[in-house]
Amino acid sequence: MQPPLPRKILVIFGTRPEAIKLFPVVAALAATPGLLVRTCVTAQHRGLLDQVLAIAGLTPDIDLDLMEPGQSLDRLTTRLLAALGVVMDAERPDRVIVQGDTATAIVGALAAYYRRIPVAHVEAGLRSGAIYHPWPEEVNRRIVAPIADQHYAPTETAAAALRRENIAPGTIHVTGNTVIDALHATRAKLAADPSLAAGLDEIAERFAGKRIVLVTAHRRENLGGSMENIARALVRIAGRSDTAILFPVHPNPDVVAVMDALLGKHANIARIAPLDYPHFIRALDLAHIVLTDSGGVQEEAPALAKPVLVMRETTERPEGVEAGTARLIGTDTDRIVSEISTLIDDAAAYRVMARAHNPFGDGHASARIAQHVADGFGR
Ligand code: UDP
Repeated sequence: MQPPLPRKILVIFGTRPEAIKLFPVVAALAATPGLLVRTCVTAQHRGLLDQVLAIAGLTPDIDLDLMEPGQSLDRLTTRLLAALGVVMDAERPDRVIVQGDTATAIVGALAAYYRRIPVAHVEAGLRSGAIYHPWPEEVNRRIVAPIADQHYAPTETAAAALRRENIAPGTIHVTGNTVIDALHATRAKLAADPSLAAGLDEIAERFAGKRIVLVTAHRRENLGGSMENIARALVRIAGRSDTAILFPVHPNPDVVAVMDALLGKHANIARIAPLDYPHFIRALDLAHIVLTDSGGVQEEAPALAKPVLVMRETTERPEGVEAGTARLIGTDTDRIVSEISTLIDDAAAYRVMARAHNPFGDGHASARIAQHVADGFGR
């Protein structure tokens, strides 16, 4: 027997990238007749998550507030499982939606599975092929796959990876990545009201006429020696009078400590607090080159025709590399400096990478997902 209308969908997330990628999905679900959407945040990252909630105008129905400073993965995972189990018993949703590759995603899927609640996985099928790159995200996302019965793959490459793992082809749907929906929605808001990103006016003025390199760096596997290599490269790049570094520093204390120790005060380096999403999109617009180890930024930058140099050895998002708009460069100091220098000094090399290119979606992924979720109850 089918459950009664409306069907209750519980969307669970806990970090900045999940919130960015799910706020358009929550909006699309809420606009779909026959569905009742409930949101639960675990807040495994507190401050960065709240920045997105504020901008998206999203007030979660349930906030577990589970972040603790320096929390181990074991402790986070066990606390998530206990807390999400209680939420699911109280909410009794008809379907749970999780996104991507976080501890919240894997545990949300598991708690639902323990109660035989079906799970939809948004951003399914990303694979680097190496279980420690990114760590622990590669295994998190693999473990969600056998639990989910709806796999929303952003690209055909991601769908093919799922088929290779014997996921039933009829349960895999290529939708595009919802980050492109978030990007379009936020750019439209910014166009209507540029004051949403006015916090960067001063930096735009200070660095006018210089080539801006936008930097983000926070991956667990880059903490330690690799982060120090990155910092040393930034100091060398900032030695060029025609170049400036814009670096919103991730609040992870291991990142902050390295940057405090090695970057110092430099006229060509703006080391700033993490930006909210409209400000970050403006930063992408201001940038000449993007230097990052982030996943989401690899998807956004090509959509804005910005060359992305990815400070990793492997990527689960090969589409940008295949299209020539992203390059994997690792974290060797000399290599980072030489890759940036080439893009600044060689206009032809720059042009090859600076092409608008949207392998990650057309901005309508969320609508496809919401419709498919709704249709699923009729099948
Ligand atoms: N982002 C942001 N402010 C910043 C840096 C990044 O809003 O100061 C956004 C960025 O646009 C992207 C997302 O955060 O959508 C990426 O998050 P993060 O790098 O933390 O995680 P990952 O994508 O690597 O999982």
